Amino acid sequence: MPVSHVMNTYARLPAAFTHGEGVWLFDEAGKRYLDALSGIAVTTLGHNHPRLVEAISAQAGRLMHTSNLYRIPLQEKLADRLAEISGMDEVFFCNSGLEANEAAIKLARFYGHKRKGVDLPTIVVMEHAFHGRSLATLSATANRKAQAGFEPLVPGFLRVPHGDMDALRQVAARNRDVVAVMLEILQGEGGVHLVDDSYLRELRALCDVQGWLLICDEVQCGTGRTGKWFGWQHAGVRPDVMTLAKGLGSGMPIGACVAAGLAAGLFQPGNHGSTFGGNPLACAAGLVTLDVIAGSKLLDNALRMGDAIREGFAGALASVPGIVDIRGRGLMVGIELDRPCGELVARALEAGFLINVTAGNVIRLLPALIFGNDDVSTLVNGVAPLICDFLSQ
Ligand code: PLP
Repeated sequence: MPVSHVMNTYARLPAAFTHGEGVWLFDEAGKRYLDALSGIAVTTLGHNHPRLVEAISAQAGRLMHTSNLYRIPLQEKLADRLAEISGMDEVFFCNSGLEANEAAIKLARFYGHKRKGVDLPTIVVMEHAFHGRSLATLSATANRKAQAGFEPLVPGFLRVPHGDMDALRQVAARNRDVVAVMLEILQGEGGVHLVDDSYLRELRALCDVQGWLLICDEVQCGTGRTGKWFGWQHAGVRPDVMTLAKGLGSGMPIGACVAAGLAAGLFQPGNHGSTFGGNPLACAAGLVTLDVIAGSKLLDNALRMGDAIREGFAGALASVPGIVDIRGRGLMVGIELDRPCGELVARALEAGFLINVTAGNVIRLLPALIFGNDDVSTLVNGVAPLICDFLSQ
């Protein structure tokens, strides 16, 4: 192997893909793989969706980038569309999940200073959280391994257990500097952990009483993945801030920090910015992604296929010792084993499946929203035996 000039930040598997079609990927040798990972919840519409290819090709031929110093009509249109489906007010566009979360963190601090008169604003974050790898989002992230070596971390975060209302009530009783609570209602990297809808409703009520912003990081579980446009819609509440990225552009880099109510109208020119954020090419991808999800009824499909995947694995693994839990919502599926199982990823690849293992022992499946019944059968019939073999060793 020649020396690689790519910085060594990923323990990469040996496969290299040349092209994709729907839920399938093809490698340099022509072998095909069923993609149950979607580039980690990114390729919402599958690979090379004709509407997406057409939209971005046409836009690339017209105009790719101007600058946020000028009006960008496609950005305005995408902001309108996001406001319409979320019931929220305004959108800041950027290029990734961590950038969307940085914007949310800055917004919460700004809110604390400007509206609550708090000099050292604190944001409550959750155990097992993942919010990104910039210094502020890494500090909000719960993973000590990811943080190690990058200290000093950014101050101003207070951590509580995910889904624990009592812990939040105790914070409310003691801490006058809290300005916001930030959480993934369905944690991805942390091991596919879902909070109850009732918890989210209670949290909303507590935030209202305390004047805290409720920030939902929907970078992984948003854009239709859980069977609603946004995960919090299952609970019938609305956050003050929501962050999006990953699946919003179905493969084109785009991020968004969406604000409502108390969090809207805070940022003024000069408070935040991004050179690339919300350029016409990325927004064309975002618009067509949302159009296809709505037009092809992919929210319903995500719900049904997610249930079918969980039921399929529950049936195939029913009497297998070592299965701790099969959980998730919509097309965010976690299969927790009683032991570390990272090596299953390479075994699945060998067998023609892209899957993921997170938190050491949770098999994570994040298929495209176009996944169909046949794909579910292929996935379950192909991957369940690998899990059985692994557990019987
Ligand atoms: N937030 C959540 C919930 C995520 O899952 C991720 C990435 O996995 C991020 C933020 C960071 O997104 P990005 O890698 O685009 O910066």
